[in-house]
Amino acid sequence: MTDRTTQPTARSTALLERARTVIPGGVNSPVRAFRAVGGTPRFMASATGPWLTDVDGNRYVDLICSWGPMILGHAHPQVEAAVREAAGRGFSFGTPSENEVALAEEIVARVEPVEQVRLVSSGTEATMSALRLARGATRRNKVVKFAGCYHGHVDALLAQAGSGVATFALPDSAGVPESNAHDTIVLPYNDIAALETAFAEHGAEIACVITEASPGNMGVVPPQPGFTAAIRRLTREHGALMISDEVMTGFRCSRAGWFGLEGEQDGAPDLFTFGKVMGGGFPAAAFGGRADLMRLLAPEGPVYQAGTLSGNPIATAAGLATLQGCTDEVYARLDTVAHAIAGGVSETFTAAGIPHVIQWAGSMFSVFFRDQPVRSYADAQAQDTAAFGRFFHAMLEQGVHLPPSAFEAWFVSAAHDDQAVEQVLRALPAAARAVT
Ligand code: PLP
Repeated sequence: MTDRTTQPTARSTALLERARTVIPGGVNSPVRAFRAVGGTPRFMASATGPWLTDVDGNRYVDLICSWGPMILGHAHPQVEAAVREAAGRGFSFGTPSENEVALAEEIVARVEPVEQVRLVSSGTEATMSALRLARGATRRNKVVKFAGCYHGHVDALLAQAGSGVATFALPDSAGVPESNAHDTIVLPYNDIAALETAFAEHGAEIACVITEASPGNMGVVPPQPGFTAAIRRLTREHGALMISDEVMTGFRCSRAGWFGLEGEQDGAPDLFTFGKVMGGGFPAAAFGGRADLMRLLAPEGPVYQAGTLSGNPIATAAGLATLQGCTDEVYARLDTVAHAIAGGVSETFTAAGIPHVIQWAGSMFSVFFRDQPVRSYADAQAQDTAAFGRFFHAMLEQGVHLPPSAFEAWFVSAAHDDQAVEQVLRALPAAARAVT
């Protein structure tokens, strides 16, 4: 038994019933439905700092942080002020505006190999557009992706994707034409030999290799030494492009994302994708890279890409204020909070004899319910997801909201203060008892 600190969830239950009538599964993104862990998803009414408050009045320490964007915490005063100021000047112009330029400059200043960016509204759009650009630039069709890497719900990239696709144990999605899958080569992550074989067999047809800079969508599975460098070497040798998907890691793992931690690895990627943190909780994302490639985009070049709300003035104001708020102190705090929480989990699980592995990408981490390191999607799938489900609910009952899937990273914010961290640590012993 855990010490239940949260109240019953009558209002969430009623809302879910209403929602199911008009929204498939009652949710607008599958992982929110709690299918992997069972039970009723909490409908949130408000959020501030590290706290979520649901419609029944229960308060939770938030370890989802909107799946990454809320790096400064919810309703951060500086971001809120920027949003109010922008909203006071109109919602969407459909013309160029100054904040777009400032946000693009901020990204270019942070990630050295990125000379130009195009702003879009979601990570999915960013990877979809980067893929089109890579195919347009190389005049080739085939794409290499890695099992367990999620790049949004782009047709060509849904094969063996992690994240929700892993949560629901789907090999890929119905509705993706075979022709799309035909051009997608899926390889095991961290397997240099498999990559070499794919290039030996299809090298002249491969437009690009897309990889999560350090995967977070099968849980956190960083690249093994030499793996990213091998991608760079092989793409270069065969005239293909390398796309580093930093939608999750960008501006979170460091000022310059995973790239800022890992550096060039025998040469920078040709293209990057960004999202989450750079939108500060609003729909803003981007893809970018070398200017000679980016100039292939319309209106300068033949690769078409567009968006009614791209560079939206409110989203760009939120993103800019968030990036400007990401100071060295913020990254130091993220580290402290993440290590305090992960350290608590490790200590508690070790004492309780629960097999576990904690893996890191900067301050992004995940807890795998198995005793061996996780280097691939197959490894990630070989964990005790039922144990995770019991742990998840015991934490939820004690006011700690983890991501509702064993295949996700745990996210913290710089607003996670000592009180929030304490609440997580206090919940752990009872949650460990629920697992065993
Ligand atoms: N790429 C990565 C690495 C992601 O983690 C995600 C989302 O989780 C996406 C792309 C898709 O982003 P969005 O959900 O904004 O479409």
